[in-house]
Amino acid sequence: MAAQILDGKKIAAEVRAEVKEEVAQLKAQGINPGLAVVLVGEDPASKVYVRNKERACEEVGIYSAAHYLPENTSQTELLALIAELNQDKRIHGILVQLPLPKHIDEKVVINAIAGEKDVDGFGPANVGNLVIGDKCFYPCTPYGCMVLLEKAGIDPRGKRAVVVGRSNIVGKPLALMLLARHATVTVCHSRTRDLAAECRQADILVAAVGKPEIITGDMIKEGAIVIDVGINRVADKKLVGDVHFESAAAKASWITPVPGGVGPMTIAMLLKNTVEAARR
Ligand code: NDP
Repeated sequence: MAAQILDGKKIAAEVRAEVKEEVAQLKAQGINPGLAVVLVGEDPASKVYVRNKERACEEVGIYSAAHYLPENTSQTELLALIAELNQDKRIHGILVQLPLPKHIDEKVVINAIAGEKDVDGFGPANVGNLVIGDKCFYPCTPYGCMVLLEKAGIDPRGKRAVVVGRSNIVGKPLALMLLARHATVTVCHSRTRDLAAECRQADILVAAVGKPEIITGDMIKEGAIVIDVGINRVADKKLVGDVHFESAAAKASWITPVPGGVGPMTIAMLLKNTVEAARR
């Protein structure tokens, strides 16, 4: 089988266009959605992410306030800013760019963001609501994976889903979202005994590992849907996913490319969550 491409670039553009329309509707009701993005330190990759988020906000008409703080900002100072943003009526979503410098406890900072402004969905209230199936903000990357499935007309109900990776930002929340959509879910990780055998069971296979091309075609069931979250830089600055694309595409029915699959969805879903926060 030659897989169809699940085109994240195209679907993310559709989501952004939907968000733009929703922003215009909210503005007509006097609500101006706003997102605060906080960056501490000089990490060049984080700076690029923050700029991209600012630009994406601008494109859809979301008010964005970026806070660039120096590397030596204390935890107390950062918490004071978050307390201020929690109170700020212009701000509906707060995102603290991770990783934070070593002297700051990420958990304390994330826990300080008001639940109703936690558009990254990493805080304990959101995660708790996700576990019990209540209203919450879905973390943006797994949310993007679910929208990719939806737009391709793939209903997880009754399907066997295998998620490789159990991080708090991708694997674990995605497993919960698939479960909520009635898939039968297996979560694999570094101690999984026979990864290939587990993967071969999957109707929907998601790779969120961070190991270049660890999933190969022989690990994929004929006709499976393959979502590759991995972004790995290899020789000559080339980007590859966690899935060996060519061999997997020969077996799968649908597959996401890297780049241009899950990647573009993440920011689009952040915008969607910000609008949702403003609507609430
Ligand atoms: P983490 O490093 O936090 O988690 C990796 C997971 O993979 C862990 O659960 C780990 O298991 C598991 N793992 C590691 N080695 C193996 C192995 N040999 N077999 C099976 N499982 C294994 O990564 P993230 O979840 O943050 O990110 C995963 C990938 O997704 C990365 O490439 C990252 O760059 C990318 N990413 C992409 C995003 C996007 O926007 N497209 C956003 C976020 C991440 P254990 O728990 O046992 O250690």
